Amino acid sequence: MEEYDIVVIGGGSGSQVATAAAEQGLEAAVVERGPLGGACITRGCVPSKALIHRADVTESVRNAEEFGVTARLEDVDYGGITDAIHDTVYEKADNQESNLRENERISLYRGEGRFVDDRTVEIDLNEDDRGGSATIRGDTVVIAVGSRPMVPPIDGIEDVDFLTSDDALFLDDRPDDLVIVGGGYIGAELGYFFAALGTDVSLVGRSDELVPRADDDVSAVVTESLETHCDVYTGYEAAAVAEADDGVTVTAEPAGGGDEDENGGGDDGADTDTVELTADELLLATGRRPNTDTLDLDATGVETDEKGYVETDDHLETTADGIWALGDIVGEQPFKHAADDEALVVTANVLDDAGEAVDYRAMPHAIFTEPQVASVGVTEDELATDDRDYEAVTVPYDAAPLGLILEAGDGFVKAIAAPDGEILGCHIVGPQASTLLHEVVVAMDGGGTVEDVAEPVHVHPALNEVVYAAFDELSDAKYSTAPDWRDVA
Ligand SMILES: Cc1cc2nc3c(=O)[nH]c(=O)nc-3n(C[C@H](O)[C@H](O)[C@H](O)COP(=O)(O)OP(=O)(O)OC[C@H]3O[C@@H](n4cnc5c(N)ncnc54)[C@H](O)[C@@H]3O)c2cc1C
Repeated sequence: MEEYDIVVIGGGSGSQVATAAAEQGLEAAVVERGPLGGACITRGCVPSKALIHRADVTESVRNAEEFGVTARLEDVDYGGITDAIHDTVYEKADNQESNLRENERISLYRGEGRFVDDRTVEIDLNEDDRGGSATIRGDTVVIAVGSRPMVPPIDGIEDVDFLTSDDALFLDDRPDDLVIVGGGYIGAELGYFFAALGTDVSLVGRSDELVPRADDDVSAVVTESLETHCDVYTGYEAAAVAEADDGVTVTAEPAGGGDEDENGGGDDGADTDTVELTADELLLATGRRPNTDTLDLDATGVETDEKGYVETDDHLETTADGIWALGDIVGEQPFKHAADDEALVVTANVLDDAGEAVDYRAMPHAIFTEPQVASVGVTEDELATDDRDYEAVTVPYDAAPLGLILEAGDGFVKAIAAPDGEILGCHIVGPQASTLLHEVVVAMDGGGTVEDVAEPVHVHPALNEVVYAAFDELSDAKYSTAPDWRDVA
C-alpha cells in the first residue's frame, strides 16, 4: 500500500492543496474519477460562460439597430460553437492532468475513491487508466468531491429522457424548443443562452421571481429581462412529465407549500392554473447534491448534515481528526472562487498549522444572464429579517455617462451600509456587473467603509462611476464630483 503525506479526493479545487504540498517537498496523491479541473472547467463555469458569450454576440447583432447600425443575424453554427468550446475546455483539463503527472511528488489515481477508514482510501481505477483497484493511505486526507445535478422526484421522470447541466452544454444540435425546470442561476443562465441562440424556451421556477436568492430588486430585473427571451412560469413547479411525440410534456402546477429547494425555490404559490408545456428537450436545473454518497463516510468519523454536506469547523477540518473538506461538498458557497479560497485555507492550516478560519463576509458571486448580476454581502431582505439598522442607496446605470451611452436603462447599483459606514452589501445588475463589483469586494475584504469606495478617484467615464455614485451618496463627504446625469436634461 502506497503511503502519502496528503491524499486529496477530488481533482477540482482540491488538487491545489496537493500542488502546494508538493512544492513544500511533501508526497501527495490526487484521486479523480473524471476530467481534471472538476466541474468548473468541463461542465460548469467555463463552458457555460463561453456559450453565454456567444449569446451576447447574437444579442449585440439583434440590438445593433438601437445604436444606428444595420445588421442581420444570418446564421448560428450551433454544432461548431459547442464543438469548439468542448475542445478548448477538454484541452485545458488534459493540460492540468499532464501538469499533475509531471510533478514528481504527486501521484494521480484516475478512479473513484472511497474510505476504508479515516486514513485509508480504496480506489476503483478507471479502465482507461490502470483498471483494477488501489489502496492508499494519507497522514492527512482532504475531501473535495464536489456536487452533481439533483434530479427531483417528478412524477414520470424515470420514463423520459432529460438533460442536466452536465450534458446540456455540448449538444450537437440546438433544440427547437426546450423546457427548463429550475429558476435558480443555472436555469436562468442556460435559459438566456438557448433563447438567444434561437430555441423557444419555457422556464419553470417555483418562486415568484427567478434567481430568488438574489436581492429582491435584482431578481425582479432578471425576471423581467428573461421574460423578453423566454416564456417564464414563476410560481410553478413541475408536477409530472411524460413522453410526447418526439419530445416531452411537462405538467407544471402552481407551487405551494414545498420546502425551499437548492435553487432557493420557495412556497410562493401562484393563484393560477396548471399548464402543459411540450418541447423537444427537457433540462432539469433543479439544484445540486453533494457527492458524499460515493465516499463510504460511515467508515470514518466524518459527519454530514441532513442534506449530505460534510460538517466542518471554521478551519475546514471535519469531525474526524486530520480529514479536511473544501468546495461544494462543504455546502456553504457553491462557487469556484469560494472552493479556491477554501483550498487556500486548508493549505495554510494543513501545511503551516496556520489556524486560519474561513470568512465568507466578502464572498462575491455573479450571474451571467442578460443583464449580468453581481453581489456581495447581505441583501435588504436579510437585514430586515435580522431587524438591523442600515441605509441603502440605489443608483441607476444611466446616472453615469457610460451607463447612458450603453443604454443600460434597467441596470443599477445598490449599496448598503451600517449607520457607522461599514459596507454591508452591494448588488449590481447591468453590463459588466461581475467586474464592477470588485472595488467593493476589495473594500469589504479590508473591513472597509463607504469612504473606501467613495474617496478614491474613479476613471471617467468608466462604468465604475455608477458604483462611485452609489457609495458617494452614502458617504458623509461634504463635496463630491460623482456624476449624476439623472438631472442633466
Ligand atoms: C452549469 C454550471 C455553471 C457554473 N458557473 C459558475 C460560475 O460562473 N462561477 C462560479 O464560481 N461557479 C460556477 N459553478 C459552480 C462551480 O463549478 C463549483 O462551485 C466548483 O466547481 C466547485 O469546485 P469543487 O472542487 O468543490 O468541486 P468540483 O469542481 O465538482 O470537483 C470535484 C471533483 O471530484 C470528483 N469526484 C467526485 N467524487 C469522487 C470520488 N468518489 N472519487 C474521485 N473523484 C471524485 C469529481 O469528478 C470532480 O472532478 C457552476 C456550476 C455549474 C454546474
